[in-house]
Formats: sequence, C-alpha cells, structure tokens
Amino acid sequence: MSNLEETLSIIKPDAIERNLQDQIKSEFNKNGFKILEEKKIHISKGEAEKFYKVHESKPFYNDLCSYLSSGPIVVMKLQRDNAVLENRKLMGATDPRVAEEGTIRKKYGISIDKNSVHGSDSIENAKIELEFFFKD
Ligand code: ADP
Ligand code: MG
Repeated sequence: MSNLEETLSIIKPDAIERNLQDQIKSEFNKNGFKILEEKKIHISKGEAEKFYKVHESKPFYNDLCSYLSSGPIVVMKLQRDNAVLENRKLMGATDPRVAEEGTIRKKYGISIDKNSVHGSDSIENAKIELEFFFKD
C-alpha cells in the first residue's frame, strides 16, 4: 500500500550561499521525492517569526528568525510515500555533528544553527507549513 504524502522542505541561507541548491535537490530526486513546486524567495524577519512561532519561547528564537531571513532560501513542496518521515530521515539530526552518515545535514550542514535544510516534522505541520508558502 502506498501512502503518498506532501511535505515542506526549505534549503536554508547557508546552503544557498554556498551554491548547494542543485546538489541538495538531487538528494531529493535520488531518494524518490518529486519536487511538485519550488520557489526561491527572501523572507522578512517578521515572516520568519510567523513561520517559527512554535519556537517562540526558545532561547535561540531571535537568532533563528534573523538567520532564516538573512538571505535567499528555496522552499519546495515534496511528494513521495511517507514523505514527512522519509524527509526527516534524509535530512538527519538537527545538529550536523551527530547526524547520521549519508544524510543531508551530515554532508552539508555547518552547525546546529546553519544546518542547511528544514523539513516539516508531522503531517499536520506539513499542511500548515505548505499553506504558509504555497497558498494557491
Ligand atoms: P529541526 O529543524 O531538526 O526540526 P527544531 O525544530 O528543533 O529542529 O529547531 C528548528 C531550527 O532551530 C533548527 O533546524 C536549527 O536551525 C535551530 N536550532 C535548534 N536547536 C538549536 C540550538 N540549540 N541552538 C541554535 N539553533 C537551534
Ligand atoms: Mg522542527
């Protein structure tokens, strides 16, 4: 039984800055994801604050929002079987130092704050996050 899902991926400013966009997109393609929609945008700090509202109470919230709005990002609607979980697996742990071999964060991440990619963490949040960037 297939369980086709959609999830949100973001290639973050540190990766765009290092020109890793095509390499990261090919990781998704190699791993069976279809990129249904994508756009390169530069969001404001206010938009980043809205997007990361769940982290409002965290000590790193302000830096996180400054960072996500510090340069262009690529937002993508990804589709495959179990896309939410499979994308989290392909990304690896939040901290690239402990991310598993072969994961995007292990390969390309610089540090816990500059970890190259975002991915929705649940089906419910995927819907909310896709709506945030791709409301038709
Ligand atoms: P993930 O991106 O793996 O879902 P979280 O949702 O916990 O991780 O955190 C969102 C983002 O906030 C992370 O990707 C990372 O960029 C940043 N972040 C998380 N924890 C820390 C931390 N301890 N210090 C600095 N930045 C952090
Ligand atoms: Mg998260």
